[in-house]
Amino acid sequence: MVTERNLSCICGATVDVSSLIIERIGEEYYKIVCPSPKCPLRELGFVKVICHSNPKFEVKLSRMFKDWNVLLVGRESCDRLVRDLLKQISLKLRKF
Ligand SMILES: [Zn+2]
Repeated sequence: MVTERNLSCICGATVDVSSLIIERIGEEYYKIVCPSPKCPLRELGFVKVICHSNPKFEVKLSRMFKDWNVLLVGRESCDRLVRDLLKQISLKLRKF
């Protein structure tokens, strides 16, 4: 069941900050990966760390991932859920 409260991946996995895998792929980059090992998409987005002393995180989510969620929950809910997710990802990265 898809509810308005969650984003989901095209594979059906529920995507939230606790289920997502965030992998470091270099000094300034992180990769956001779908929680499902069987996912055909796998990469849901990237994070670029802008400044190190007071880090800012620029998160880019996959177009396919966003389009998919617009279809599922509508543009307005999707935008809100994406905004919340990005905020939570930034908070999580701050603790790394
Ligand atoms: Zn997936």
